[in-house]
Amino acid sequence: MYDVIIIGGGPAGLTAGLYNARARLNVLLLERLAPGGQVLTTDRVENYPGFPDGISGFELMDRMKTQAEKFDLKIRNDEVMKLELSEKRKVVVTSSGQMESKVIILACGASWKKLGVEGEDRLMGKGISFCATCDGPFYRDQEVAVVGGGDTAVEEAVFLTRFVKRIYLIHRRDKLRATKLLQERAMAEDKIDFILDTVPLRILGESDVEGIELKQLKTGDIRQKAVRGVFIFVGTVPNTELVKGLVKLDQNGFVITDDNMQTSMPGVFAAGDIRSKLFRQISTAVGEGAAASYSAEKYLESLR
Ligand code: NAP
Repeated sequence: MYDVIIIGGGPAGLTAGLYNARARLNVLLLERLAPGGQVLTTDRVENYPGFPDGISGFELMDRMKTQAEKFDLKIRNDEVMKLELSEKRKVVVTSSGQMESKVIILACGASWKKLGVEGEDRLMGKGISFCATCDGPFYRDQEVAVVGGGDTAVEEAVFLTRFVKRIYLIHRRDKLRATKLLQERAMAEDKIDFILDTVPLRILGESDVEGIELKQLKTGDIRQKAVRGVFIFVGTVPNTELVKGLVKLDQNGFVITDDNMQTSMPGVFAAGDIRSKLFRQISTAVGEGAAASYSAEKYLESLR
């Protein structure tokens, strides 16, 4: 029986693990992929305090993992298939077996949201990507589309200017959502063309992406643009399949907690991008991971 099982190895999970391991609890972190979460695909993190010159997403997460393991956090590469959660008993069923814990910390994060247009599923990985850092170099000297107007879309579009010939940044409104500094950077790039008030209708191509069909929302005009790559950054969906019906979720499927990261189920806490909240940052995930670990300790004390 574990004291704490943390599900997810992004910034929230690794921070909760670091704190609980330092508190000498019997804690296990389960991660289905490599620890690090979505940050792993970020080329450069500039707004995590303590790194005035920025740091690569990979290096930042590698450092968090190394720091947690230094205090003996056990990290296991295993996929959670099912959770059986009640106030009395918390069972975690993974691809390699079943285990029990007194506390669960949900730090499963979020996944990239899809557009839901024709051609998207068929051409996934064949010119459609959710990761500019991973796939940008494949589009050297080609034309690509980036869909979305938030921090991710604008930051990744600027990153893509290193490789591609031209980027069409397609956003559904006439104003970008991204932070002003990122907008200024994108607008200073000659290679980025902003196509505003516009949504994709279809992604075109047989075996590879050949173009994108767009609709101008104000005029109703429909046109096609020839591109070899489409990068989709239209937000995230929470990884809450495992806890549907077990803890309270908001209308978008994110886990509702109180200020101490307590979910609707006693002994189950949530931290990071999986939580229902307004602001999703590495720094907020780290703070919530620390808060969840503290709440976990207090809960364990209350059981004694
Ligand atoms: P986001 O902030 O939710 O932005 C999603 C963008 O996609 C919005 O511009 C939205 O348009 C658009 N969109 C949503 N659904 C769409 C659809 N079906 N069709 C077309 N467009 C659609 O997502 P994000 O940019 O991935 O950022 C997620 C969180 O991570 C945010 O809190 C962000 O601040 C944070 N983040 C921070 C940094 C950084 O600090 N450097 C970097 C990356 C991400 P509307 O604007 O019209 O809603």
